[in-house]
Formats: sequence, C-alpha cells, structure tokens
Amino acid sequence: MGIEEKLPAGFMLTSVEALAGYMRKGSLWPATFGLACCAIEMMTTGAPRYDLARFGMEVFRASPRQADLMIVAGRVSQKMAPVVRQVYDQMVEPKWVLSMGVCASSGGMFNNYAIVQGVDHIVPVDIYLPGCPPRPEMLINAILELHKQIQATPLGVNRDAAARAAEEAAMAA
Ligand code: SF4
Repeated sequence: MGIEEKLPAGFMLTSVEALAGYMRKGSLWPATFGLACCAIEMMTTGAPRYDLARFGMEVFRASPRQADLMIVAGRVSQKMAPVVRQVYDQMVEPKWVLSMGVCASSGGMFNNYAIVQGVDHIVPVDIYLPGCPPRPEMLINAILELHKQIQATPLGVNRDAAARAAEEAAMAA
C-alpha cells in the first residue's frame, strides 16, 4: 500500500492550512492609528511592560498597505468614518478588524448625531472588545481570541465571502 492510501483524505491540505494559520496569527501587523481615549490603552499595550512582541505583533505599520489588523480604538466620528473605510480598503487581504471599547463597538455614551453608532456600520468587524477603556490585558485577550479565528480560517478566504458581500451590501443600503 502506498503512502497516499495510508494518509487520511485532505491530510496535506489540512496540514498546510494549519501551518499557514499558525504563521498568520504569529505575525499580525496592526495599522497605526487611534481615534480617542481607547488609543492610549492600545499604545500602552505596545509598550515594553506588556511585551506584545510575545505574540509577533510589536510592529505597528504607518502604511495600511503593510498592515493586516485594524484596531479601531475609540469612538468613530461621522467625519472620520470615510477615512476609516479608506484605510480598511487599502489594507492587504487577508485582514481583520478588532473593535476596541464600547464606543467603537456601539457608540457607547455618545448616542448622538456626530458619532457612528458602531464601527460595523463602516467596516466588517471580526471581534468586539467591551470596556471603557479596555485595559491592555483585555486587548491582549481579544488578540488571542482573534488568533483562534485566524488559526481556523481556511486558506484562500479571510471570512465567509458571502457574509462579507451581504454585510457590505447592507452597509451600502
Ligand atoms: Fe474613550 Fe471609553 Fe469611548 Fe474608549 S470606550 S473611546 S475610553 S469613552
């Protein structure tokens, strides 16, 4: 019996996907920008005390074209919304979005005309982090939860393409 017959079906592809997921989650490059007070905690998370380098992501990139993680840290004003979307569009695939804090996730205390009531009206969000502001330990925990999603993502797709198309159609409506 040849080795091919002994291996379970899909063994090779599964192994390559697992390896790619491992490499991806261990080399996230976040885009450099912050929108409000949550950004202070995000910057603190990048400082030596919390040692984000343990997770392969100490390099915040000034260019969205070199980033694959958007951390939306703070409330999103209506004026800033098109800029956030433009930064997202300029990021390379596969890419992920982490909504940090209650303001980014739902508008929080800013229930008014000037603030977008959740950044998921602008970009698809992969993980929501509650808190006002979330502490660095909470941000690290959200990043580790995102790692699980990235590890489970099959090759060739970032997230369900159909779901994303539906999300974007709903946003455009
Ligand atoms: Fe500021 Fe709190 Fe809103 Fe974060 S959640 S942007 S800390 S008010």
